[in-house]
Amino acid sequence: MAEPLLRLRGITKRFPGVVANDGVDLEVYPGEVLALLGENGAGKSTLISILYGLYRPDEGEILLGGQPVHITSPRHALELGIGLVPQHPLLVGRHTVAENLALGVGARLFPAQRIVPLIEKIAGAYGLHVDPKAHIHTLSPGEKQRVEIVRSLLGGARILILDEPTSVLTPQEAEALFTVMRELRTAGKSLIFISHKLEEVLGISDRITVLRRGKVVGGLPARDATKASLAELMVGRNVSFERKRKVPKLGGVLLAVQGLRAKSARGLDALRDVSFQLRAGEILGVAGVAGNGQSELVEVLSGLRKTSGGTVTLDGRPISANPAQLFGAGVAHIPEDRIGMGTVPSMTVAENLALREYDRAPFARGLLTVPRQLDANAKSKVQEYAVATPSIHTPSRLLSGGNIQKVILARELSGVPKLILAVHPTYGLDIGATEQVHRVLLEKTYQGASVLLVSEDLEEILSLSDQVAVLYHGELKGPFPVESVTHESLGLLMTGGAA
Ligand code: ADP
Ligand code: MG
Repeated sequence: MAEPLLRLRGITKRFPGVVANDGVDLEVYPGEVLALLGENGAGKSTLISILYGLYRPDEGEILLGGQPVHITSPRHALELGIGLVPQHPLLVGRHTVAENLALGVGARLFPAQRIVPLIEKIAGAYGLHVDPKAHIHTLSPGEKQRVEIVRSLLGGARILILDEPTSVLTPQEAEALFTVMRELRTAGKSLIFISHKLEEVLGISDRITVLRRGKVVGGLPARDATKASLAELMVGRNVSFERKRKVPKLGGVLLAVQGLRAKSARGLDALRDVSFQLRAGEILGVAGVAGNGQSELVEVLSGLRKTSGGTVTLDGRPISANPAQLFGAGVAHIPEDRIGMGTVPSMTVAENLALREYDRAPFARGLLTVPRQLDANAKSKVQEYAVATPSIHTPSRLLSGGNIQKVILARELSGVPKLILAVHPTYGLDIGATEQVHRVLLEKTYQGASVLLVSEDLEEILSLSDQVAVLYHGELKGPFPVESVTHESLGLLMTGGAA
């Protein structure tokens, strides 16, 4: 192999109480895709921030073309040929692509018309479909990403860093991105690809570097890696990838939704004539790109949104738009927004664990809370769900994402819920926490609970569900038995195509 274009030697970065990067060595060669893999908190973003001039390392050095460099800012990084495609593009919605990119060329203001041919040239060279005159607010997440790639290339990037670029894409859009990445590699660019999705990493990268707790724990050519070997490196122990679902014993119809219509918060039609049934013990996976009616469906089923047509019955009785009443009737809700809706960050773990029944026995007597009951409840749940918290009196905002999710699960799934509304239940969780959430949900169904699983993670949907449906523009396609669908057929339905 040629000389590395970029070499990191002994990079260490400390934050109060944590060594985010611990003596990291890394090489990036011209014309390769290097995947950076690791669980949440492994130190990937910190390392990228150092490379992009957002953080300065405490120790270690960065060599570019063999020469030591001190990267002082993102602008400096791009001058050195290092570009970053952020997870959430920072583009100005009411401006055009050309206007946005003109703002970024050097420090001077560049006339937008003059940049159009430059954009077209770069886009053409790498198969990036970008319309310079399109307004940003009309673009899909995939299109915005392409604009960010063009921005880096306009700035002269030789090394492109993509931070979890596929997390906002459908499978087809992700494929389109991989095609562009291959074009860039062929043209001699180096790409640093960050993802926690093992299939993708195996499919696109040439080499893989795995971080765990700030340290490099492995580096290998992609052709020598397997899903199992990578997961073991990431987690530090053996991980199983079997389909986790045992054949369930299903009961009668628990939830019947017929011709359901509902409006969004902005008054638009969010659910159009949605019908499905869910039997006791069954898991229905609802896939789709966010914003196609998923939130409104869950809001109706959890009592947070009124319907504008159709019927919804639970155990044969029409449901009410009253969350407390529905919780009482056995509807558990694991919300998407864990910190706004799922927990109150300033309250303690013990208080959050009793949040749904804070004002009732045994947690309250009259207007007074009963600390002894709160504590007893918290102690048993913290133990049962293995919540890592310094104390049950710690405010929940100090917990990691995985532990906040465990608090919500422990609260919502205690007792015997009949219907569990699980919305992106493992989003942002590491492999260990994800396994635990899946195990708990499956166990509840073996005890008779039904699950409506809303997720953008098709792996998760396919590995847990009995039936799968897709929401697209407020219409429900399916449900289909899980055996009859694939990644590809779901991806097509998610973008409005036919299966
Ligand atoms: P990853 O991107 O792999 O999920 P990060 O680089 O974001 O990991 O985080 C590595 C560790 O450093 C984590 O323990 C995280 O909490 C900590 N950390 C990251 N950024 C900061 C910061 N600005 N201040 C304090 N701690 C941080
Ligand atoms: Mg990160």
